[in-house]
Amino acid sequence: MTKRDYYEILGVSKNATEAELKKAYRQMALKFHPDKNPGDKASEEKFKEAAEAYEVLSNPQKRQKYDQFGHAGLGNSAGFGGAGEMNMDDIFSHFGDIFGDMFWGGFSSRGQRSRRVNKGSNLRVKVKLTLEEISNGVEKKIKVNKYVSCPECHGTGAKGGSSYNTCSTCRGSGHVTRVTSTFLGQMQTSSACPQCGGEGQIITDKCNSCFGNGIVKGEEIISLNIPAGVAEGMQLSVSGKGNAAARGGIPGDLIIVIEEIEHAELIRDGENLLYEHYITFPEAAIGITIEVPTIDGKARVKIEPGTQSGKVLRLKNKGLPSLNSHSRGDLLVNINVWTPQTLSKEEKAMLEKLQYSPNFKPHPNKKDKNFFERMREVFK
Ligand SMILES: [Zn+2]
Ligand SMILES: [Zn+2]
Repeated sequence: MTKRDYYEILGVSKNATEAELKKAYRQMALKFHPDKNPGDKASEEKFKEAAEAYEVLSNPQKRQKYDQFGHAGLGNSAGFGGAGEMNMDDIFSHFGDIFGDMFWGGFSSRGQRSRRVNKGSNLRVKVKLTLEEISNGVEKKIKVNKYVSCPECHGTGAKGGSSYNTCSTCRGSGHVTRVTSTFLGQMQTSSACPQCGGEGQIITDKCNSCFGNGIVKGEEIISLNIPAGVAEGMQLSVSGKGNAAARGGIPGDLIIVIEEIEHAELIRDGENLLYEHYITFPEAAIGITIEVPTIDGKARVKIEPGTQSGKVLRLKNKGLPSLNSHSRGDLLVNINVWTPQTLSKEEKAMLEKLQYSPNFKPHPNKKDKNFFERMREVFK
């Protein structure tokens, strides 16, 4: 399996700062942490993948090598000794600082109960792409209207960024414990603190710009690296680029929905491209070299003498790239012979002369392989 791009994994741009990398990795680690997704293999893989990406990009030498040569530049020293061999203890010991100073705690290994963390909502944005962009992959900068962290209070919701108190009901823990006596002995039940809604803090003086929410309407320019081979309706998720969350929580994701702009001449059929070409009857009989459009300029194609209408020519690897492998589809050119629909007197007279010529008498091979190939293409 080919490895995904490390920047893409963390959802950051190629020139992300150290702080941005750290932030992105924290978000990924939080989202896919095994404690939060018990027994979910896919999340565990994502968690490991993010750890590997961060391990490389947070190291300036490795990052430089990776930027220059990609995965190949890292050889076998990348990550934690190859796919699947990395274990969770490695990750925690490497990045203890990342997990250690997460204010929300909540990992079972730390033996704390979590305070409630606000989560921003996901945003969906449509991105229109031409076939050329789909063929090559493209970097797009898009402007997204969304909730952003309030600049006035730095997202805290509190005036001046500091006018809040630790909740007196839960003493900042975000949850309250009630002890009840039952015939089995004392039972402890724990629930979100009603006073602070589980956040552990109460704002004493709300920010005027965001009314204590910590978020305001704004916009962000987001650059997207769209891989080659995407198709209409596909969704790409950019972690942490959705709406900001209330009072310093975790932002939602940005979901990119791909839309295809129709090509003027080529029709997409999965990884293949289809093109209809018409030739005249004399061209079909005598043979001709035609020019057909491809995704990257024109291609010259020879039409053999005696070509029948409906012949399909296959231009290998002139289709679209596969999203998951290095292969490419083909360009299929359907040759049609144009039958004239109006004739001058002279033309009609000439054709009448040829009408009963022995060579003009149809004698099709009813088991014509080309016919079956064509039908297969049609019904594929
Ligand atoms: Zn504010
Ligand atoms: Zn409380």
